[in-house]
Amino acid sequence: MTTPDEHIRRSERRHAFTGIGDQNQLNPLFAREGEATDFPLNALPAGESLPETAYQVVHDEAMLDGNSRLNLATFVGTWMDPHADRLYAETADKNMVDKDEYPQTAAIETRCWKMIATLWNAPDAELAIGTSTIGSSEACMLGGLALKRRWQLARRAAGKSTEKPNLILSSAVQVCWEKFCNYWDVEPRYVPITDEHKCLDGFELENYVDENTIGVVAIMGVTYTGVYEPVAEIAAALDRIQAETGLDIPIHVDGASGGMIAPFLQPDLPWDFRVERVASISTSAHKYGLVYPGLGWVVWRTVSDLPKELVFDVTYLGGHMPSFALNFSRPGAQVLLQYYLFLRLGWDGYYKVQKASQDVAVYLAGEIGRMPAFDLWNDGTDIPVFAWQLTKGHTDKWNLYHLSERLRLKGWLIPAYPMPDNLTDVVVQRIVVRNGLSRNLAESLVLDIQDAVAYLDALESPMPTEGLTHAFAH
Ligand SMILES: *Cc1c(COP(=O)(O)O)cnc(C)c1O
Repeated sequence: MTTPDEHIRRSERRHAFTGIGDQNQLNPLFAREGEATDFPLNALPAGESLPETAYQVVHDEAMLDGNSRLNLATFVGTWMDPHADRLYAETADKNMVDKDEYPQTAAIETRCWKMIATLWNAPDAELAIGTSTIGSSEACMLGGLALKRRWQLARRAAGKSTEKPNLILSSAVQVCWEKFCNYWDVEPRYVPITDEHKCLDGFELENYVDENTIGVVAIMGVTYTGVYEPVAEIAAALDRIQAETGLDIPIHVDGASGGMIAPFLQPDLPWDFRVERVASISTSAHKYGLVYPGLGWVVWRTVSDLPKELVFDVTYLGGHMPSFALNFSRPGAQVLLQYYLFLRLGWDGYYKVQKASQDVAVYLAGEIGRMPAFDLWNDGTDIPVFAWQLTKGHTDKWNLYHLSERLRLKGWLIPAYPMPDNLTDVVVQRIVVRNGLSRNLAESLVLDIQDAVAYLDALESPMPTEGLTHAFAH
């Protein structure tokens, strides 16, 4: 991982090496007469520059970022078609919160979450309530806040303490849930994943739940590995707990990635509002929703699942529009892009795109699983994401961090990292297949992995382990 400070230091060093300007200056490679060609790195330039010059500087700097097509570490979409690009450029100025000035964008937002509510089998989309967000993190915060407030209201009504709320989650939750618990003073109760229980599956849930439990988070597409947590089994465990103790505990489904995969690829799997205990579901539109970064969705089964005290009124064409959000102003363009994609692709189109990604994931998992060096953790048949370990006893000369580094030489970003608590001695490597990783590219990747493994296996002495770091795993 590179900290921002390190990054700046590196970039300064790079500029020092090129010998251009002084150490704190950027110098574009071209120098037309009359143009400002030196820019201070960390201070606002005193004067103006030509738009071409400023553009070229920013363009060239951005070029140093990785190649997103070869980045198999991230879930976030990086490509949309030219019509979407055009729409984005036309609507980049729209502010989502300004429902008065942009009533049509507001109406389209509502259409989108209603479509999603239907996709997630809400009993009646007209009775559901939802909103767009800046991503899953905000969507999860809102889902969590609704759980907390519902619990508080019920406790107060019963004359009981609201001092010590807790939330049950897998130890493999995404960092946004740690933030939620930290920021809103909720005790996280992590259920550790183990070799036998590779995700939260309801096992021994009764040991974690009590009267202060505001809810259980179930993940559709665990970030570390891509597996679905069995929402229906978790709900069944909570049904048993309710029968024994009377505690009625709701579920929030974090479908950051799976929320836009399961409706298309596993339509018969009951993970959504078909499971009665599921009160709310969130997703990242910028993951398998296929929209550019900056959009998420959260939907509650019915308006009564979202305490009305949390909802603010925003003026809307002289009327009022309910709003539940952490941000005030945020871009509206992504909502229009989501609507564009819903119209453009429809159910069939989404199915085809997701199926193509899954086919590539299953192909890659098959090829990698076949190599003696590796043991698959899963096979890419939930979301198109899978992880593998080094086969025990295969080698004492190299590990998955070395393989990750080796693959970087070819441009591939394929992170290796330890699993969470209780399994931290297990290191896995993960591939996220997104729209755009074609079968052709995948075949090149298999060859590159085979080459890298052959090189590492042929070493006469072990690779050094100094300076190995684990990479971005969210
Ligand atoms: C990516 C992810 C998040 C956070 O999503 P953002 O849209 O990046 O805020 C939350 N939960 C899970 C399971 C994720 O995979």
